[in-house]
Parts: sequence; structure tokens; C-alpha cells
Amino acid sequence: MNAPAEHANLARQHLIDPEICIRCNTCEEICPVDAITHDSRNYVVKFDTCNGCLACISPCPTGAIDSWRNVDKAAPHSLADQYSWDYLPDTTELDQLEATVMGAAELPAEVQQITEVATAGQGGPALAPWSASHPYVNIYSPAAPITATVTGNYRLTAEDASSDIHHIVLDFGTTPFPILEGQSIGIIPPGTDDKGKPHLLRMYSVASPREGERPHYNNLALTVKRVVEDHEGKPARGVASNYVCDLKKGDKVQVTGPYGSTYLMPNHPGSSIMMICTGTGSAPMRAMTERRRRRMDRKEGGELVLFFGARAPEELPYFGPLQKLPKDFIDINFAFSRVPGEPKRYVQDAIRERADKVFQMLQDDNCYIYICGLKGMEAGVLEAFRDICRANGADWDALRPQLLAKARFHVETY
Ligand SMILES: Cc1cc2nc3c(=O)[nH]c(=O)nc-3n(C[C@H](O)[C@H](O)[C@H](O)COP(=O)(O)OP(=O)(O)OC[C@H]3O[C@@H](n4cnc5c(N)ncnc54)[C@H](O)[C@@H]3O)c2cc1C
Ligand code: SF4
Ligand code: SF4
Repeated sequence: MNAPAEHANLARQHLIDPEICIRCNTCEEICPVDAITHDSRNYVVKFDTCNGCLACISPCPTGAIDSWRNVDKAAPHSLADQYSWDYLPDTTELDQLEATVMGAAELPAEVQQITEVATAGQGGPALAPWSASHPYVNIYSPAAPITATVTGNYRLTAEDASSDIHHIVLDFGTTPFPILEGQSIGIIPPGTDDKGKPHLLRMYSVASPREGERPHYNNLALTVKRVVEDHEGKPARGVASNYVCDLKKGDKVQVTGPYGSTYLMPNHPGSSIMMICTGTGSAPMRAMTERRRRRMDRKEGGELVLFFGARAPEELPYFGPLQKLPKDFIDINFAFSRVPGEPKRYVQDAIRERADKVFQMLQDDNCYIYICGLKGMEAGVLEAFRDICRANGADWDALRPQLLAKARFHVETY
């Protein structure tokens, strides 16, 4: 959109709402031109670098990124201003006028298209399945969180397992906290960091279906892994995960959210779901599976196929209950990478072993695909999809944008 000549001095400045932003870094990672940066306080957008490509809008779990103000081109809000904000500045009369997004006019359509394809690999501009229920998002902000009460906390992994994963149940009493399968919540750990600032919230996927872990009691479940080493394997005590894993029944917890308006399950009868996860990536898969399990007698049809990777069976959250589900309800494929005396198998190996089924599901417009777990798992899974497509005379790079356009492909890795 070109600005009318009389408003040529105006520009639409892209900003981030500091009140809602949960500092998850998604936008900074996804921005193709490095227009986003942050300090310990705020995420901010560089006025001169942002070209308005909008690649960051849909992956932002909170909507904080979709904030815009009209400014005088010669006097935009500086980075220093943005770093200091607790709230967005009020709109002014300038916001009533038409203004161009800085840089957008110079961006050729072709480049925009290439950018969209380039960002598709990281989850891409995401849509919710057409039959997903309408989610509520962002009801409780970090400035005004809701207090939940812990009503359950038990260890899911075996006592001698190397990972300590807990199933936590939070109860919201009489305060509304509507949630759908696939959404996440924020938890604010108490206390301050080493600079004396309050801890930022951490996000956790909800592991229970929409009507709650205990149906109709306004509660939900989480699957939280105690972080005791960093991504490189060096000892590190994770602030929030240790806090959550140590919670006792009756403890009060500050919760924000709910978050996420695209990683949602389809609701129409006959829709199939392919779920691929490792570790705590099982949380949203449990939520979706539970939703379907509790409605099994309605015979709504649609297949559930699960690929679940872990080091060993003892490390698998929900291993026992999963084993009890009928085979014609869910097709479960485990992959264990560290069982003594057995060859290493990763989740992508399990996917490759079921190549025919996977290809059939990739082709099926009624099948929705969900990937969740640590960042590291994504590349192997995508490589397996690529190989399976190639072996069947199809092209993954051509298929992926189609899946995204139909809201059939959803990735949440952290
Ligand atoms: C959308 C979303 C959903 C999530 N869902 C879940 C969930 O269902 N269950 C869950 O347990 N976590 C989940 N996470 C991750 C969670 O938000 C925290 O990042 C994680 O619990 C670590 O936080 P911490 O405060 O304990 O560690 P921090 O104090 O933030 O970090 C301590 C150190 O550990 C490293 N580290 C951080 N996370 C991990 C990790 N997962 N594994 C290894 N090293 C790590 C950090 O880089 C740092 O060096 C989710 C994240 C996102 C973005
Ligand atoms: S919440 Fe949105 S704006 Fe804030 S860091 Fe995450 S993606 Fe960026
Ligand atoms: S609109 Fe595009 S260029 Fe601007 S911050 Fe978002 S991803 Fe970056």
C-alpha cells in the first residue's frame, strides 16, 4: 500500500507490545533480515531494518509482535525508547492517517514470496485447522497473572531414569481459564534473577484435554522436565522447571496465558492426526489423544498415529498408559536411542520404517501433522519426510507449502 502524497512524511512503525510479549525469541529467530533484537528487558524492532514482510506475525504465540504506530519518518521511536517501555505508547491522531510500512514499498513481490518459502522451514506462517475450536489467548498477562493451586505432582519417569519428568495438575478454582489441546500457558517462577529483576515467565504445553485433567473441575495438566544441564550437556539448574517439579500439593502458582492460536487439533469427524514427539513434546500429543480417547464411543473415525522418541522406555512420559490404549485406536511407534545391547533408534528411524503409512498420511488432506520436542529433533524428522517423498516420486519442498496453506503442518520445538 502506497501512502497518499499528503502523508508521505508518515511511516507505519512496527513495534512489540512489552506488556504481552513473553520474550520467547521466536520473532528474532524468524525475522529474515535481523530486524528484531532484545536486551534483558524488551524485544524491539529496528525501524530502518524491518521491511514489513510479516513473517514474524503468525509464529508469535502472544500477538505482541503485531503492534504498529504511525510516526514521522524522520522521528521514529528509537531503540532506546523501545527498550525503556513497560507499555506501548498511546495512539495519536497520526494513526488515523494512511501511512506506508517502512520498507514494504521497496520489497518486490518476488522477494516477499521467497521470504515466505524461506521461513516456512521454521514452521512457516501458520494457520489453525479449519475445524479447530476458537481459542482464547492472552487473558492473563505477566502484569496481571492468575493464581492456580497445585492439586497434583508426580514423577512420570522411572526413579532411576536420567530424566526427571513430572505430571503437574493446576486448578484455577472459580476463575475462568479456557484452554484447548495444543495451547500453552506461562508460569512465572517466584524471585529474581542475578540482576535483581523478576524472573521472566516460561511456557509449558498443556497435557490435558479442553475439559480438564479431571473433567469439569477447571484444571489442567503439564508435563515438565527438570532441566539440570544446558543444551550442551553442561550442568545448569533450570529456574522454572526445577521450581515446577518441586511444587507441592496446595502450593500457589502464578500463571499467564493461554497462548497459541494455531497449534490446535482438528475437530471434524474423520480427521486423522500424525503426532511426532520426543520427551516433553508428548504434552500436546497427550492432550489430543486424551480428547479423542474420551470420545472414543462416538466413533468419529480418523486415525491417530504416534511416533515417540526417548532414550529408553523408563524415560518415556506416559509410557504405561500409552501401552494400554487399543491398537485400533492409536498406532504407536516407539524409538529408543539408548537401550543397552540394542541399536540406537531415533524418532526419524521409526518414521522411515513406516514410510508407506507416513506417505499415505502426508498425501491425505484429512490428516494433520504435529511435531513437538527439543529443537534438535526437527531436522531429522524433516529429512525423513524428504526421503520418504523422494522414494515415492514426490517433492517435500513442493508439498510443505501446500501442507502449511491447508494448516496441516504444525511444529513446536524449543
Ligand atoms: C511453546 C513452548 C512450549 C513448551 N512446553 C514445554 C513442556 O511442555 N514441558 C517442558 O518441560 N518444557 C517446555 N518448554 C520449555 C520451557 O518453556 C523451558 O524453556 C524449560 O522448562 C527450561 O526452563 P528453565 O527455567 O528450567 O531453564 P532456564 O533457567 O531458562 O535455562 C537453564 C539452562 O538450560 C538450558 N535449557 C533450557 N531449556 C532446556 C531444555 N528443555 N533442555 C535442556 N536444556 C535447556 C538453557 O539454555 C540454559 O542454559 C516449552 C517451551 C515453549 C517455547
Ligand atoms: S512473544 Fe512474540 S514478540 Fe515477544 S519474543 Fe515471542 S515472538 Fe517475539
Ligand atoms: S515484519 Fe518481517 S522484517 Fe519486520 S520484524 Fe517481522 S519478520 Fe522482520
